[in-house]
Amino acid sequence: MGQYVIGIDMGGTKTRAAAVDLEGRVLAARQGPTDPRDPRRGLEAMAGLVREVIAEVARNAAEEGGEAGQPGAAGSPGPIAVGLGAPGPLDVAGGRFQEAPNLPGWNGFPVARELWQALGLPVLLENDANAAAVGEHRFGAAVGLTDFLYVTLGTGIGGAVFMDGKLRRGTSGGAGEIGHVQVDPDGPVCGCGRRGCVEVFAAGPGIARAAGKDRAEEVFAAAAAGDEAARHGLAVAGQALGRGLALAVTLLDPQAVVIGGGMAEADPAGLAVYLEAAEAVVATAFIPGGRKAPIRRGVLAVNAGVLGAAALAMEVAARPASLPPKVVDKPWGREIWWAQTDRYVGKIIEVRAGTSLSLQYHRQKLETMLFVDGQGMIQLGDEAVTVTPGRSITITPGTLHRVRAVTDLRFYEVSTPEVEDVVRVKDDFGRA
Ligand SMILES: [Zn+2]
Repeated sequence: MGQYVIGIDMGGTKTRAAAVDLEGRVLAARQGPTDPRDPRRGLEAMAGLVREVIAEVARNAAEEGGEAGQPGAAGSPGPIAVGLGAPGPLDVAGGRFQEAPNLPGWNGFPVARELWQALGLPVLLENDANAAAVGEHRFGAAVGLTDFLYVTLGTGIGGAVFMDGKLRRGTSGGAGEIGHVQVDPDGPVCGCGRRGCVEVFAAGPGIARAAGKDRAEEVFAAAAAGDEAARHGLAVAGQALGRGLALAVTLLDPQAVVIGGGMAEADPAGLAVYLEAAEAVVATAFIPGGRKAPIRRGVLAVNAGVLGAAALAMEVAARPASLPPKVVDKPWGREIWWAQTDRYVGKIIEVRAGTSLSLQYHRQKLETMLFVDGQGMIQLGDEAVTVTPGRSITITPGTLHRVRAVTDLRFYEVSTPEVEDVVRVKDDFGRA
């Protein structure tokens, strides 16, 4: 058992967490209800799922005669980072919810920071449709595609855009929101307050309502059994989806449209009626080069979200090899920066024997240190803690701390990227 990451797929009703190795194999997974109203309780439940997953991986490793995976030891077994996919809109850089309609209690809640603090592992937050698209791109139906549109069909309709091999988030992370493309200005009112969006016709509740059923699954099953009214209803819903997709493929010129979400698990014969109707409309669109933009079904099913979130968390692990490191000499040793994004900073810090970093605290920044070589101490508030290789320590905002190297000391530090956030209380090198 080597290093692995944690992927979390947080939905409006269910949250799924999985441990995923660096090749994309799911090592353990757990699922539980989402608490839509109380983020404190919800966060504790989410952290609990992750701890269960970590414990199961450690148990399995112990049974196989390997080492138990403890968090934090770089280069040794254990979880190294967490990716969290959640319903938008999100402030991805700030790691918080904005106005998620299905999670009213979580508005403004800094979920990434709080989960990081609870688990002692860096957390990257991403829109759930984006995370699922990353999962299909890295491990599923979109492997090898450089340009595709991902559409998640369920209670709502979301989407994600890959262009030139990269996930494109847009200015505020909202790129790909195909569910709220308007296809009928006089149509019914959508959950977003506008009229005639794709979602109001083509998502589960709209399909059920139009067919006079309680649930969309019943409509798909009836259509599969040959019920003409149900087939007609699905064709009408599929056409609405197709109008939205036609607009998107004209704008984006993708190689394919990849479909995921709960509805992709519906009765295949019923789903075919719906998707064929959509594809027929897409085929009438103006597509550059006269190509087709085929609709493909995703293959990762329930694991698309956790695998995608895990793949995003792997950014943390993948950066050291993919970026030339920036080396900064310091009076006490040196820093080797291997990643700086809008969401985290990763450094290797080397402190010479006998020197101390400044006594400091941060106003907002959260830091996790993973000690890998040498012996030292860290002062944490009034406490002095001995650090040895394998130990990980998370420093919360406002905590006074100071690292002292007894022998040459080396640690990894991953932190949130607030700038000019450090307050130095005492420094051996005359810095303010
Ligand atoms: Zn809408």
